[in-house]
Amino acid sequence: MDIQLSKADEEFRDTVREFLATELSPTVREATAQTPTVFVEPDIHNAWAAALNRRGWLAYQWPAEHGGTGWTPVQRYLFEKECALAGAPNLTVLGLKLLAPVIFTYGSEEQKAYYLPRILSGEDYWCQGFSEPGAGSDLASLKTRAVRDGDEYVINGSKIWTTHAHHANRMFALVRTDNSGRKQQGISFILIDMDTPGVAVRPIYTLAGDHEVNQVFLEDVRVPASNLVGEEGQGWEIAKFLLENERGGSCHAPKLLYDLSMVEKAAADEPDARGGVLADDPEWRRRVAELRLEVQSLDMIELKILADIANGRKPGPQTSLTKLLASQLRQKIDLLAVDLYGPAGLQLPAQRPLYGDNSSDPFISGGAQVASARYLNSRAWTIFGGTDEVQSTIIAKTVLGL
Ligand SMILES: Cc1cc2nc3c(=O)[nH]c(=O)nc-3n(C[C@H](O)[C@H](O)[C@H](O)COP(=O)(O)OP(=O)(O)OC[C@H]3O[C@@H](n4cnc5c(N)ncnc54)[C@H](O)[C@@H]3O)c2cc1C
Repeated sequence: MDIQLSKADEEFRDTVREFLATELSPTVREATAQTPTVFVEPDIHNAWAAALNRRGWLAYQWPAEHGGTGWTPVQRYLFEKECALAGAPNLTVLGLKLLAPVIFTYGSEEQKAYYLPRILSGEDYWCQGFSEPGAGSDLASLKTRAVRDGDEYVINGSKIWTTHAHHANRMFALVRTDNSGRKQQGISFILIDMDTPGVAVRPIYTLAGDHEVNQVFLEDVRVPASNLVGEEGQGWEIAKFLLENERGGSCHAPKLLYDLSMVEKAAADEPDARGGVLADDPEWRRRVAELRLEVQSLDMIELKILADIANGRKPGPQTSLTKLLASQLRQKIDLLAVDLYGPAGLQLPAQRPLYGDNSSDPFISGGAQVASARYLNSRAWTIFGGTDEVQSTIIAKTVLGL
């Protein structure tokens, strides 16, 4: 694997840096730093997405024939890395990275023409209706029923942990259209308008008091049969395709390195108990160095996957390894931040958002104000998109052959 950049790639990276220097506003950067949840709120997200869309870079992972940039895997990596190192917000994966590849791989021509431009313009904000009470790790046990009635499906059931369902106008969902065979066989993939009669969204507040996830109830929800993606019963195949993109669709290491460097920077101003600053404390330096090495190892694994993709190979189950490592490192960095601020890092403000004109002044610093909430929210990393135990099993079976 050659990790030297070509001249053309260096020029591309410089173009991205110039764009970030002019288009990533301090307001969006500050709001991102003060967001404790996994997803940023739509106000921040949409401002950043619109700037990228104006430059033609929002669909940076899509092929050119579907309105994407058509960038090489190396260009995509460089773009993500520069955005992360500049403190840009994560783009929501739901429409752009999860649904869009499903639409251009399995969707009809009508679905491609209708939905893809609306994801880019921001007209549609999607949520993912996969998990149900009793069907998370064992997703194929899902029970939400879709029964064909003329040109429509009638849907009954409930979805849970649905991120940003309270902001979304559409949901892509897995539903059961057949109960007769193996449980994986009777699942279909369908698109639901959130304003259809019978859809109700109930908030679930997380440990830190944030409203990021929901339970969605579906009662006699009538959906046009043309909203089915792929064939009836093809939902499990599509779900596996989507989950592979969810686990391996992005490089995690640059963002982790950025967040670690922010904690390191703050330690230079944090007094220790001996009249110096924490950044000079040998034990602190050891923890930071260990973490940095772990994140750099993840970076190398992600670069190896990138090299595979560039050579036409699919990432496959290696994405479970990066999801596992990235989730655990995210939690370690967020714990380091809480330790850095000591008692000030233990505050848990009830007010949201922690940015903008209506937010209260931080007690010590913005970093201290958000540290505990971020630590609590990042417990979710080892759960969503497949838990640590589930990823470990995939690695054991498919990578290690155990
Ligand atoms: C913040 C957050 C956001 C989410 N967003 C969404 C979303 O937008 N859309 C969506 O559809 N879902 C979403 N999820 C749901 C997420 O995918 C599930 O929570 C996850 O798949 C785990 O399922 P579960 O919660 O039902 O736990 P369970 O599957 O009941 O697992 C409970 C525990 O048992 C362990 N376990 C289960 N099965 C096995 C096994 N076979 N071997 C070993 N251990 C096992 C698990 O690892 C876990 O520790 C979100 C979850 C969170 C926390």
